[in-house]
Amino acid sequence: MMEYRRLGNTGLKASVIGMGCEGMSEENYQMCGKMFDAAEGLGINYFDLYASDPQLRRAIGKALRGRREKFIIQSHICSIWKNGQYLRTRKLDEVKAGFEEMMALLDVDCIDVGMIHYCDAMADWENIVNNGILDYARALKRQGRIRHIGLSSHNPLVAERAIVEGGIEVLMFSVNPCYDLQPAGEDVEELWNNSNYENQLTNMDPDRQRLYEICQRRGVGITVMKAFGGGDLLGSNQIAGVKLTVNQCIAYALSRPAVSVVLAGAHSVEQLKESVAYCEAGAEERDYAAALAAFPRVSWVGKCMYCSHCEPCPQFIDIASVTKFLHLAQAQGGIPETVREHYKALSRHAGDCVQCGACEGRCPFSVPIRDNMKQAKEVFGY
Ligand code: SF4
Ligand code: SF4
Repeated sequence: MMEYRRLGNTGLKASVIGMGCEGMSEENYQMCGKMFDAAEGLGINYFDLYASDPQLRRAIGKALRGRREKFIIQSHICSIWKNGQYLRTRKLDEVKAGFEEMMALLDVDCIDVGMIHYCDAMADWENIVNNGILDYARALKRQGRIRHIGLSSHNPLVAERAIVEGGIEVLMFSVNPCYDLQPAGEDVEELWNNSNYENQLTNMDPDRQRLYEICQRRGVGITVMKAFGGGDLLGSNQIAGVKLTVNQCIAYALSRPAVSVVLAGAHSVEQLKESVAYCEAGAEERDYAAALAAFPRVSWVGKCMYCSHCEPCPQFIDIASVTKFLHLAQAQGGIPETVREHYKALSRHAGDCVQCGACEGRCPFSVPIRDNMKQAKEVFGY
């Protein structure tokens, strides 16, 4: 059974596995309808329509006909088709013309998430603001042609600025345990540059951690791209020296704060089914802790990876969730109401911890769980 999550504060309830249409090639434009049929049958209701190829957009439009309102679609502003190829543009006239063309080809009146496309550099974000693109997206929202404003990025610092300055409501971001180790940068190629994984690395990059926490605190929903590192994490390249499974990659991404949807590729129905199988996978298959602990040149010591490997707790405390809420509460002064509510909704709390220490022997990352429980009790009061 498909699982569904709230997408930040949008009010939308999205399937945790979404379908990204980027992978559709010319051969399977013909089978676009079949892919949407399969996705619907599997319970997928979230679709990323990044590709700007008019043929593909027309095929997607055809596939959406008669069932548009069953689906949540995020489609990209600034991704256009020029001289027979994809182009990212920040020229407002091109952006406007591209949006109109997209709407016509998709044959829809409204896009749920209008995603400002692919912004990894600070100067580029400034272009988006100064060239009127952000204002244009806001106008589209006022007109009801897009319901929410999104941004896609690989750079946590740019994404954070866009969220804080630009009121971005949905973030499409690259999330996986390897990229999470890398410092923020404006050159996306560096994320899969093997040499960046050759030296000793310690814990996830603080800017990335902060981005996830800011998103959670502000109610910005994250939809995940590159959860499998373009396939590298599944074995073809193994940038950090370890092979992960589809289930482990999905579980990792879905356990980061604010993440609602992992976008799976749509090369074939089989590939889609492989990602959706996550929803039926047991705790053991989803468990990414041992795989992360085996990364040869990475130390995660002391850092909670929200993996739940330390369970079961005799007091039935959901240790990963308590720790996540503790981090969210500590991230910036004052505990947001949503974090308080989520904490309250847990069936057991840090105050139920009897300090037995059973969990600590099971944590592969030597997290001081008893201390965390004490801190959480202090912060939340129970
Ligand atoms: S305390 Fe350790 S085992 Fe438990 S969720 Fe955190 S990292 Fe995983
Ligand atoms: S130390 Fe606390 S959190 Fe850990 S197993 Fe014991 S009761 Fe549960």
